[in-house]
Amino acid sequence: MNKEAIIAKCKELDVRFIRLQFTDILGVVKNVAIPISQLEKALNNQIMFDGSSIEGFTRVEESDMILQPDLNSFAIFPWRPREGSVARFICDIYTPENKPFEGDPRYVLQKVIREAADLGFTVNVGPECEFFLFKSNEDGTPSTVTHDKGGYFDLSPVDLGENARREIILTLEEMGFEIEASHHEVSPGQHEIDFRYSDPLSAADRVTTLKFVTRIIAQLHNLHATFMPKPLFGVNGSGMHIHLSLFKDGKNAFYDSQAKNQLSPAALYFIGGILKHIKAITAVTNPLVNSYKRLIPGYEAPVFQSWSASNRSALIRVPAARQSDTRIEIRNPDPCCNPYLAFSLLIKAGLDGIANKISPSEPIQKNVYLMTPAERALENISSLPSSLFEALEEMEKDPLCLATLGEHIMNRYVEAKMIEWEVYRSQIHQWEIDQYLGVF
Ligand code: ADP
Ligand code: MG
Ligand code: MG
Ligand code: MG
Ligand code: MG
Repeated sequence: MNKEAIIAKCKELDVRFIRLQFTDILGVVKNVAIPISQLEKALNNQIMFDGSSIEGFTRVEESDMILQPDLNSFAIFPWRPREGSVARFICDIYTPENKPFEGDPRYVLQKVIREAADLGFTVNVGPECEFFLFKSNEDGTPSTVTHDKGGYFDLSPVDLGENARREIILTLEEMGFEIEASHHEVSPGQHEIDFRYSDPLSAADRVTTLKFVTRIIAQLHNLHATFMPKPLFGVNGSGMHIHLSLFKDGKNAFYDSQAKNQLSPAALYFIGGILKHIKAITAVTNPLVNSYKRLIPGYEAPVFQSWSASNRSALIRVPAARQSDTRIEIRNPDPCCNPYLAFSLLIKAGLDGIANKISPSEPIQKNVYLMTPAERALENISSLPSSLFEALEEMEKDPLCLATLGEHIMNRYVEAKMIEWEVYRSQIHQWEIDQYLGVF
């Protein structure tokens, strides 16, 4: 849609408010709401906002930023009343000098997409988002009480969550999503929604949209949706598997009918690059203290740095589909990551593998969890970081992160996350009280 078509559509649907959305460094969606009278001004890139109030954006003295709406992201919020409806744009952020802002995660991803294009590659990304639906307390605060007793693919008629999920999907479809699958996940109250793969920028925009739409629709059903990676002890946490493929000249560049496993050298090097950098990237794909409570053995989340042509215990799995569907699935990310930064780093690591011909170790067909530490050492399989702190240390050591994110985002990210870690580390947890207070 061009500007004129958007203005006409807003008139037709009686749109009263426009939300200008963007994502901060930590992956939180921010909004500036403007009345419809300001639409033309927004479309002419004249809406300024005070960036100093946003986490990780600017220092106070450089606070004025311009929001530039991406016309492709125009959407009406379907859950709002038909009269006086609300529309949104996802925006790029520019400095007052009209330059792309270095602290804008969307800009980081756009640069990586351009780098891939310069090498002749189109990148495809397909994320699978998992989340929990919990009951809300009387006062509206979230609980960790689930609404069901359902298991994987369960069809229990008493499941309140099924109704909420159905409406989430219908809403997303109205907003232009092509939903490929949705189902109850392994844990009680846990669900998954998969939408069709696309270019990385649209896929990242959709992850952010999916998250806030899911929360809003759940709320309308008196449920609380959370993408927190491990809200419940003892059951599977929520991940966001990321499927990636490269195309060149309209053909899948990961597919080679003649090669072993029908995987091209580009596919193997791409895997090699990701394996090389994954420990550092984990600080972004698994961004919370809580993320590392999901990455433990026994709950279908990866713990070791390995890849496999089939096995789901590996960090990188190559799904069985071939020809145009040939792709890799990266299994450690969780839905709390900033998708713009996570996709950027994974793609950049894969391209580094191709540029430097980084061959991955042999694929592991065994279940890596069942191997002994000695067997793993023999196959060169090391562990992913076991805490946010370890991951941040890896991130600081790997020059690929700085090269991809730029100084502005890299410095602010590490600083904010180190503080998060320190605050957590100094807390006294209930487990410690239960274990130590009486005994010592
Ligand atoms: P799983 O078996 O892990 O549940 P699926 O086979 O259901 O995964 O695929 C999930 C995601 O993979 C979807 O988003 C889908 O669109 C995406 N996908 C399919 N083909 C490709 C491709 N060539 N490149 C990237 N993603 C793809
Ligand atoms: Mg799935
Ligand atoms: Mg599936
Ligand atoms: Mg799943
Ligand atoms: Mg998967």
